[in-house]
Amino acid sequence: MCGIVGYTGSHPALARVIEGLRRLEYRGYDSAGIALVGKPGDALVVAKKAGKLSNLESALTSNYESAMSGIGHTRWATHGGPTDTNAHPHLSNDGKLAVIHNGIIENYVELKTDLQKRGHTFTSETDTESVAHLLSDEFSKVGNLAEAMRSVCKQLRGSFTLLAIHSDSPKTIIGARRNSPLVVGVGEGENFLASDVSAFISHTKKALELGQDQVVEVTP
Ligand code: GLU
Repeated sequence: MCGIVGYTGSHPALARVIEGLRRLEYRGYDSAGIALVGKPGDALVVAKKAGKLSNLESALTSNYESAMSGIGHTRWATHGGPTDTNAHPHLSNDGKLAVIHNGIIENYVELKTDLQKRGHTFTSETDTESVAHLLSDEFSKVGNLAEAMRSVCKQLRGSFTLLAIHSDSPKTIIGARRNSPLVVGVGEGENFLASDVSAFISHTKKALELGQDQVVEVTP
């Protein structure tokens, strides 16, 4: 189980997310990645690298500095080796939606088979990537990311903390959990999601623990 951080607010998300991931480093990990989003209509900016957080930081450019929302992940590989491609976030085929995940999706093989039949292309060996494609399908049906996540969670077996962002709604982060922790950090004009309070404790001491099988929608 490694690190999950989400941020939306009035400060550059990159610094907040990297700081959160650094505070979760003690848990151990084999790769790290982030997805950030700026104004509506802007594309997601994504970077992911095997190895230490410093490898990820070296891959970042100035493109990342203006985004005020983002998600970040440190991975401990369970399905697929610790490579750049298998690192999270995983994206939908249209590149508009990004998902990070701690845990294991037990029924990912059957989900993947169905999704491939429906035309989705997979680029990683992870169990997580199925969630990105499934969420993108549900989002295109219902047009609301929280509702799409609720529907996806009903189709998943296993343990998960999930965060998702979509470039069409850049000020919203969606989280969900089952048998794996997720905490909301309530700030002033900014809010956090994380697998552990230590990720945001230097910015807010107000935290809400998400209950089992709950989905949360966080805005600034
Ligand atoms: N099962 C996922 C993977 O292997 C997530 C692992 C984790 O919890 O970091 O990519």
